Amino acid sequence: MIKVLRNLEVYSPEPLGRCDILIANDKIALVEKHLKVPLAEVLDFTGKIAFPGLIDCHVHITGGGGEGGFASRTPELLFSDLVKGGITTVVGCLGTDGVTRSLENLYAKAKALEEEGVTSFLYTGSYRVPPVTFTGNLMKDLMLIDKVIGVGEIAISDHRSSQPTIEEIKRIAADARVGGMLSKKAGVVNLHVGDGPYGIEMLFEIVRTTEIPITQFLPTHMNRNEKLLEEGLRWVQMGGFVDLTTGDEDTRGDLAAAKILQKYVELGFENLVTMSSDGQGSLPKFNEKKEFIGFKVGRVTSLFAHLRTAIKNGVPIQKALKSVTVNPARALRLCGKGIIREGYDADILIVDSDLNVDAVVAKGKILMKDKNVLVTGTFEER
Ligand code: ZN
Repeated sequence: MIKVLRNLEVYSPEPLGRCDILIANDKIALVEKHLKVPLAEVLDFTGKIAFPGLIDCHVHITGGGGEGGFASRTPELLFSDLVKGGITTVVGCLGTDGVTRSLENLYAKAKALEEEGVTSFLYTGSYRVPPVTFTGNLMKDLMLIDKVIGVGEIAISDHRSSQPTIEEIKRIAADARVGGMLSKKAGVVNLHVGDGPYGIEMLFEIVRTTEIPITQFLPTHMNRNEKLLEEGLRWVQMGGFVDLTTGDEDTRGDLAAAKILQKYVELGFENLVTMSSDGQGSLPKFNEKKEFIGFKVGRVTSLFAHLRTAIKNGVPIQKALKSVTVNPARALRLCGKGIIREGYDADILIVDSDLNVDAVVAKGKILMKDKNVLVTGTFEER
């Protein structure tokens, strides 16, 4: 029940120096130097670094894809992959396929992940408009289903979208906003932005012509192309959040999330950028005729890989970390998440000096230690 994680170099994300973290049940009770607590279980982490557990705000937890026919449907998420990626909070969503992928199944998977030890939330809806819902109504979903914190990923500017009109997106945002207010949730509209020529022009127009605040929207895949990069920078200047997709572990491309995160940080927007993995989603490839020519499966472990690369490339740890901790917690209004601080949930990611995941604690429970993941009650080697 009571644990002390000793001798950690703590980034809350702010650097706190070497501290001990006292955990009581599922909460952080104290973060201090040289804690003395009798009868507590003590775990010594000398030489290790503590981050808040990562928040992955866009994961196809039940699988996604299907753009190349049934055989291109992607498999569901393994709990152990989340743990290996240092993720302690996950937001699940449907994608292109809102027919064979159901919200009921998504809910069951979110509950399963929660039982296994992490915190889970959901977006109701899928790519299409009107959104598929649990109850037949977006506001009811937000108000009556605890796990639902928003709607998405609604596709815009994509040949796979339902070609929604601006009026349709306005109405969805309005319902999500009011449903969120009434249920004390973010009611965020998570938008899948494709590589169509119109980018997020529709969102600029909605923000300009309605009372809906810019923070009601979280456009994702904003590192997809140069146009979205330019629009994303305009969006954050207006106070909106943008989400970058890490996708796979390859951090080398021109528009890789690690590189684009660095750009946002250099321009002073480290408080408005989030990263998510798009885990288990398909990363389909289409030719210039929009014909499907193959796909890869997104991996949740890419989130940590891009964070690590950004830090190794010189982004200050505390600034890079915000994109996967405190920023998604703020954008999605996740209380008690994203910060190592007294009273917050005991979600802690421990890395070694070369920034490899070493241990993971979620809601006070050790899910990984010495690089071994807890699976059905025992720690298994990676
Ligand atoms: Zn998407």
